[in-house]
Amino acid sequence: MSIVRKDLLEQIRVKPGSEVNLKDFDPGWAQTKDLKELGKDAVKERATEVLERNRTELAEAQDLLYASDSHAVLIVLQAMDAAGKDGTIKHVMSGVNPQGCQVFSFKKPSDEELDHNFLWRYMKALPERGRIGIFNRSYYEDVLVVRVHPELLVTQKLPDGKRGKSFWNDRYDDINAFERHLVRNGTLVLKFFLNVSKKEQKRRFLDRLDDPDKHWKFSVSDMAERGYWKDYMRAYEHALTATSTEAAPWYVVPADQKWVTRAVVADIIATSIKDLDLKYPEVTEQKKQALAVARESLAGEDEA
Ligand code: AMP
Ligand code: MG
Repeated sequence: MSIVRKDLLEQIRVKPGSEVNLKDFDPGWAQTKDLKELGKDAVKERATEVLERNRTELAEAQDLLYASDSHAVLIVLQAMDAAGKDGTIKHVMSGVNPQGCQVFSFKKPSDEELDHNFLWRYMKALPERGRIGIFNRSYYEDVLVVRVHPELLVTQKLPDGKRGKSFWNDRYDDINAFERHLVRNGTLVLKFFLNVSKKEQKRRFLDRLDDPDKHWKFSVSDMAERGYWKDYMRAYEHALTATSTEAAPWYVVPADQKWVTRAVVADIIATSIKDLDLKYPEVTEQKKQALAVARESLAGEDEA
């Protein structure tokens, strides 16, 4: 059973075919009336409880995924800087068996990667059956940062052609086809946009600047990208509108409160895996007999 209320889940899931306007999604969603009334301490307590329950659920779901070995889970995390991608991965996955989980962080593409089609490097990193794979940034960067900075397209050395609206629509089509292919072949695709407000990003950047232990987290280029905030939001709106499908929906997760982000993401992953209705492998009659023989043999061994 999902811990996050169904109506709230409906609010953050991007309905396929709907036009996304990010103004309709509140980054500070936990500051809702009932939470405010509960008071800060109660909220913190509840948050820890919810996260703990989510972790347990996720660990169980992942165990089943691994045992049944028929499906993979691909988790796509996209966000502006300081929205909490790394923290979400750390917290959400902390209860999960490391053997069943892999994380890939995508940075600026290398020369070798730029020599291939734009999906190549992501294809190579897809999770195998039984595993949860997390993409910390993803092929969506190719319609986000690259759309905001079209000069990056030059480095992709594409054949001459139009670089207008149809170019981006073609990329969305390619992404939808790619994800449909994954889903048809047994990969559950879950996509999260961690929706942080510009105001909260400023607060987190200042926090990094004020705390020497956090200086390493601050990057001058993050500051530069902040200057393109509106362009990014527009690029996100276009991408979310075009690529939230029944097969692979987008979730716009409120990210101004870290605990909300973590609880919601963990909950959606655990619930979605459970909805796959996986089963632990059945033990065949033949195997049962082999188990009985093994038991007998062990029982008959001399104590050395
Ligand atoms: P970070 O995740 O903050 O360490 O930064 C990674 C950087 O790599 C970000 O500035 C991304 O925008 C950039 N990046 C990731 N994927 C791509 C891509 N496909 N093309 C260009 N830049 C990218
Ligand atoms: Mg960064």
